[in-house]
Amino acid sequence: MNGKHRWLVWVAVVGVLAALAGQAPAAEKISVLIIDGQNHAAHPWKVSTPILKDLLLKTGRFNVEVSTTPPPKAPKEDWEQFRPDPSKYGVVLVNYNGQDGPGNNWPAEVTAAFEKYVQGGGGLVFYHAAVFSFPNWPEWNKMMGMGWRGAGFGERVYLDDEGKAVRQPKGQGPGGGHGPAHPFEITVREKDHPTMKGLPAKWAHVTDELYHGMRGPCENMTILATAFSAKDKGGTGGHEPMAWTVSYGKGRVFVSLLGHDAKNLAAPDSEALITRGCEWAATGEVTLPAPESFAAGEPAKPETK
Ligand code: ZN
Repeated sequence: MNGKHRWLVWVAVVGVLAALAGQAPAAEKISVLIIDGQNHAAHPWKVSTPILKDLLLKTGRFNVEVSTTPPPKAPKEDWEQFRPDPSKYGVVLVNYNGQDGPGNNWPAEVTAAFEKYVQGGGGLVFYHAAVFSFPNWPEWNKMMGMGWRGAGFGERVYLDDEGKAVRQPKGQGPGGGHGPAHPFEITVREKDHPTMKGLPAKWAHVTDELYHGMRGPCENMTILATAFSAKDKGGTGGHEPMAWTVSYGKGRVFVSLLGHDAKNLAAPDSEALITRGCEWAATGEVTLPAPESFAAGEPAKPETK
């Protein structure tokens, strides 16, 4: 290379560096691990995981990987292959509801890694039927706060008409359930929480399952949004939590019950709760804007039949 060419190379290098320095630093992408592999037939993870992945990716805020467990009743050797390392991710999104019971959980080193990860500041997000998972894993129940359990499992928390939290001890009131799917209204209860900021105080959700009677240890929980569970729709007459957070050690946990199937998971509010919940669980902040349908003051419309 002669002197002139060397000089040209330096000009090019300096130019590129100057251009890079002039750019606003792009927010580092958050890595998400989706865990799936077992769920109810009514909650096909093979359908919902690609939707969850797409809605996260299209924000531009996340990288997404998926770890799939072996199927139910798989031999022990297959479980030897299931060794997700949550510490490599900013947040783990649980789309799993599978085998449970002593000796029938995820491998002990995986459950230990999850407890350590969330305790140490990791993010965890539960989507819809994931709240059925692992009633026999005590620390998991603490991370989830509450989930779909029998009436005798633990406390139930809902809000009364004045917005006051009511705690029912185990054995009193309903356990997990829902009436026939129908459109319902969502009410924000913590408007200053990062995941709720910018959303309307109330909005209409599409036809979906309205879970009620969630139960668990209910410790260190904040109820973010509720829906009125009307008795004439097979509900409880209480305002049932639809989204909540749990602080577990240094970790942040976010739960959204919305989005039973592909259609209502793709509703803007279901999507917003998943994406904003993942960002918050990973970072403690939310930069993702409220969906345009909300920003324009238009609530998510109930679907017309
Ligand atoms: Zn469902």
